[in-house]
Amino acid sequence: MSSGATTLRIDVVSLFPETVRAALAASIPARAVERGLAELKVHDLREWGIGKHRAVDDEPYGGGAGMLMRPEPLVDAIEALRGEKSTVILLDAGGERLKQARVRSLATDGHLIILCGRYEGVDDRVRKILKADEYSIGGYVLTGGELPALVMTDATVRQIP
Ligand code: SAM
Repeated sequence: MSSGATTLRIDVVSLFPETVRAALAASIPARAVERGLAELKVHDLREWGIGKHRAVDDEPYGGGAGMLMRPEPLVDAIEALRGEKSTVILLDAGGERLKQARVRSLATDGHLIILCGRYEGVDDRVRKILKADEYSIGGYVLTGGELPALVMTDATVRQIP
């Protein structure tokens, strides 16, 4: 997926792509892109939504409060964006805590696909299908994965020499 001098490509998949794009347009991430050291793309998950209304959410299987993310749009997004050596990341408050050592290694992974959750996140059946590395940025629950995706992207891009 990388081309020319680009060392790192990050694809962020979000239901609020504009908020992620706006933050990536400033400071070090923007400079890394300008210098051809990183390629940062933000995609609207609804591109892979289902039906006329581009649905991306569903009621929990077997009932329960709140809505969950549908598996199909996430799987289709990964299929569309995946290269030969892509690392797929799902942001989740219950995931492994993101530490500097992992950030350093992510910067050399070549291609990251970062999935931002919303609603009540994804259920366990979806996790089995996605087979993503799950990361949390801290011991608290945010409204969505956009801020964690920005934290992860910023920390990772900073590692590029
Ligand atoms: N029911 C979920 C739980 O208890 O963990 C909460 C889902 S939260 C409202 C919606 C999304 O925000 C999650 O799917 C995840 O992508 C993201 N998120 C929230 N807190 C996070 C954290 N600390 N680290 C990484 N992602 C987080």
